[in-house]
Amino acid sequence: MAPRKRILSGMRPTGRFHLGNYYGAARNWVRLQDEYDCFYMVADYHGLTSQPHATAFERDLIDLAADMMAVGVRPESIYLQSSVPEVAELFLLFTMVTPYGWVQRVPTFKEMARQQPDNVNMGLFSYPVLQAADILLVKGDAVPVGQDQDAHIEMARETARRFNRLYGNVFPEPATLRTETPKILGTDGRAKMSKSLGNIVGVTAEPEVIRKQVLSMVTDTRRAYLSQPGHPKSCNVDSLYKIFFPDDWQHYWDLCRKAEIGCHEKKRILGERIIETFAPFRQARAELSDEAVKRHLAEGSRRARDVARATVAEARSAVGLLPGL
Ligand code: AMP
Repeated sequence: MAPRKRILSGMRPTGRFHLGNYYGAARNWVRLQDEYDCFYMVADYHGLTSQPHATAFERDLIDLAADMMAVGVRPESIYLQSSVPEVAELFLLFTMVTPYGWVQRVPTFKEMARQQPDNVNMGLFSYPVLQAADILLVKGDAVPVGQDQDAHIEMARETARRFNRLYGNVFPEPATLRTETPKILGTDGRAKMSKSLGNIVGVTAEPEVIRKQVLSMVTDTRRAYLSQPGHPKSCNVDSLYKIFFPDDWQHYWDLCRKAEIGCHEKKRILGERIIETFAPFRQARAELSDEAVKRHLAEGSRRARDVARATVAEARSAVGLLPGL
């Protein structure tokens, strides 16, 4: 039997896990577990680009790993990026084959620089090079991600191609595995849901937190009165109804069009449905102690590190470096 193809994906520990992380990434990660050999990373080096407070950061990375496990990602597939330091060496080798212009072109850099104008560091700039190293370190055949990652995956492919052309065939060119829900908008109804923008709806958060987040959602700005028909087509609440009420979203659409339901009531119903849908995840999360999470992370990281050591040895030899003395 042919060996299973390998996939890699990751998340930054920059705040609580949200609907975008789940529907844009983690749900797909769980579904792919039987078909692929999976490596799922808590991307803590990447998280440092926004210079979080050390104590809060440690909490965030344990929380993220616990949330991944709670939503069904198998603990043995999860690892901590910084516990596989070989990624830093591969990153360094890749900086030598990555033309400056490639990195300059990546649109996410400009977006992130806009989000943190006082902290436009080299890590932010070289983020896609490190991401290429993450993927190619485990020789990932494919990467399951949301739409926002397209430019980065393209760069990982270009990096593999260029390295292989210069030094021989070492890396596979990773394909993108698109999720069914590549982009979830935030509660502002405009930008992508994102921890750094504070426009999130949590997954394993406490019910009262989720309730508040959903009620804060911007709805149909053209609808001034309850008696006016709404415009569900341009309302972000309606896009979430399609996810959380797959069988009867049309019913709520009609009620909105006939002005028989208000925006507040639609959000209230949605909030309760989200809370109910994620109750098993919340329960699983509550049962995971920090110690158990750290133990799983250490085991997962050992597994990833074994693969990483072999890849880095191969890459070193390909470029003409001596094996570590
Ligand atoms: P991040 O939290 O930015 O590290 O993203 C982790 C993963 O979640 C990536 O695969 C993203 O593509 C995905 N993701 C994050 N936010 C969203 C969103 N609003 N909609 C869809 N996918 C998302």
